[in-house]
Amino acid sequence: MIPFLNLKALNERHRSDFLEAAARVFDSGWFIHGKEHDAFEREFAGFHGECHAIGVANGLDALTLVLRAWMQAGRIKEGDEVIVPANTYIASVLAITENRLKPVLVEPTPSTYNLDPGRLAEALTPRTRVILPVHLYGQAADMAAIRAFANAHDLLILEDCAQAHGAVLDGVRVGLWGDAAGFSFYPGKNLGALGDGGAILTRDGALADHLRGLRNYGSSLKYHNRWQGPNSRLDELQSAFLRIKLRCLDSDNARRREISMRYRNEIRHPTIALPRVAGDESTHVWHLFVVRVPDREAFVRHLSDSGVQTVVHYPIPPHRQECYPALHSLQLPLTEAIHREVVSLPISPVMADDEVDRVINACNAFRF
Ligand SMILES: *Cc1c(COP(=O)(O)O)cnc(C)c1O
Repeated sequence: MIPFLNLKALNERHRSDFLEAAARVFDSGWFIHGKEHDAFEREFAGFHGECHAIGVANGLDALTLVLRAWMQAGRIKEGDEVIVPANTYIASVLAITENRLKPVLVEPTPSTYNLDPGRLAEALTPRTRVILPVHLYGQAADMAAIRAFANAHDLLILEDCAQAHGAVLDGVRVGLWGDAAGFSFYPGKNLGALGDGGAILTRDGALADHLRGLRNYGSSLKYHNRWQGPNSRLDELQSAFLRIKLRCLDSDNARRREISMRYRNEIRHPTIALPRVAGDESTHVWHLFVVRVPDREAFVRHLSDSGVQTVVHYPIPPHRQECYPALHSLQLPLTEAIHREVVSLPISPVMADDEVDRVINACNAFRF
């Protein structure tokens, strides 16, 4: 069976570096907010350009804490509206509702599955304060258009970069287009830890200072609590592992791109709709290779019988989730069709060429 994602093989490449890093942390006797953490923050910021990086416990916290900091700073308030793509992973929406802000779900562009800038005007109300674009599946959203709209209407932008580490748009990496950005280092992400982790990027020095306190009980000075904050810290071990993996993020993304290119060139089938890249190839880092097939159930069964494991990202859209009864009445036909038809093929830096061949052959052999 070709696994959807072989996390063991992915990390095996760094085995000796990881063990050495773990020994270094062990010998230091310092496990939270030490040298590895500070070095990772510096290196992660430096990878992007002129900005601040703030390590946190996970990607959901990264998004949640930025909105919370903006509320505490009086830039937004309870009940304000946040525009978010309707077909995103639930975490983007949870970050909004966790702060008692109101998510305004907008249908995506059908060709890229990303926030449709053409639909921003109809989503805008006097209470709109923030746009939360998601670089879904690894493809950068149309940030130039989103930025222009935000500037025209005095809105903040929080980028959800949890699936797009390293993607580049017009020479600038995602994460630097917004007023702040949230990243996840969940093990399966393009930059994944050996456990949970996350980070925030921002060019706003005051926001960075605020977040450095907020993630640590709201305290920048030990035992002095300026804000009410959670415990959301990135530990020394994960920081040390992430420093090692950051060094090969660009080459890993290049390998993902190579595999995606083969899939896009060689899968030829009348009912399998392949993903499209809106800009140049560097705008997409292929966290997921998502195809659309009307008869998904039969396709998934066929691939499984052919020895190819697939995953559906995602089977139920946020507005149909049990936790959001107030959103159930929304009609979002495009989003609903996407959730009915999408299925993700295996893609990862450690997939071998013959595995890629087998996935392609299995797809092309699908009888419908
Ligand atoms: C993974 C993910 C998150 C949340 O990250 P965690 O580290 O799992 O909390 C947020 N948004 C998107 C789009 C994601 O894919």
